[in-house]
Amino acid sequence: MKKMISVVIPCFNESEVIDFTVEELLSVTNGLSDYRFELIFVNDGSSDDTEAKLLSYSKQHANVHTLSFSRNFGHQQAVSAGIDASRGDAVVLIDADLQDPPQVIEQMIEKWQAGYDVVYGTRLHRDGESTFKRASAKLFYKVLNRLSEIPIPLDTGDFRLMDRQVVEQLKEMPEKTRFIRGMVSWIGFNQTYVEYERSARFAGESKYPLRKMIRFALDGILSFSVKPLKISILMGFISSGVAFLLLIYSIYVRLATDEWVSGWTSLVDSILFMGGVQLIAIGILGEYVARIYNEAKHRPLYILKKGLDGEHSETRQESE
Ligand code: UDP
Ligand code: MG
Repeated sequence: MKKMISVVIPCFNESEVIDFTVEELLSVTNGLSDYRFELIFVNDGSSDDTEAKLLSYSKQHANVHTLSFSRNFGHQQAVSAGIDASRGDAVVLIDADLQDPPQVIEQMIEKWQAGYDVVYGTRLHRDGESTFKRASAKLFYKVLNRLSEIPIPLDTGDFRLMDRQVVEQLKEMPEKTRFIRGMVSWIGFNQTYVEYERSARFAGESKYPLRKMIRFALDGILSFSVKPLKISILMGFISSGVAFLLLIYSIYVRLATDEWVSGWTSLVDSILFMGGVQLIAIGILGEYVARIYNEAKHRPLYILKKGLDGEHSETRQESE
């Protein structure tokens, strides 16, 4: 029996590109005759005729499937729904605008067959994207990696192939703010990459306006790091330190010079002191919130690669 590969394609108002995308994906996957493919299109509440087009392709081709959301839930949710519906031995995620060339899927499959569990695409160039988009993406990945406890590959989108065992783990992670590329890094196993040139969208507009990009960047950073919460504890200690120095200075002014103003010493000292104490208190609160937050994510505590006798991997649900 040939192995099956599921290709998941999130689509939001992609009417302009969808015909080309379906044809192109069918021709690429038909060319890889050693495998069976299913194409899972997820219509993320499009307001154009994307859904109608997809449904008609599903009628024509037995291996083309369409899922439809009740409204626009967002890219990451669309990808998650496709993953949940997939049945393949491996799952490939690719955008509907084919900025990531489907021909690369073949190289991904080769690496998968060579024993890797995750093969992600790393962008060499980003043609046709504004300098601003490129610069902001670069900054985002830098900040994210600085803050995150696990490394998240640079210049990598969601274009990737994942083995079934990785997909099953991803499905086990119930967190609501999904940042799939980070979650896949977190899961582990053997990960590698293939390089490719990212081309421009040949039609349609980016569905990621600045507002969505910032939301996505924040989700990525806040889902993978509690460091922002810890900043106030640091600020608290710094301002308490400064307050202490100023305290000494104000007492010195009061006792050793004639320049003191009545009431100034006590006023300044109490403001500085309270400011520092408050920041430290907020920082401590932040530490607890961070822990609650980590628990509330209900991530499995760890993932076993194989059981004792080489049986299927098992996930422990309970925390320490
Ligand atoms: N997308 C989606 N829901 C959204 C926004 C985008 O399903 O709310 C899909 C979109 O159809 C495309 C992919 O996510 O297949 C990436 O979007 P886009 O190409 O607009 O992003 P960019 O490449 O500009 O970052
Ligand atoms: Mg795109």
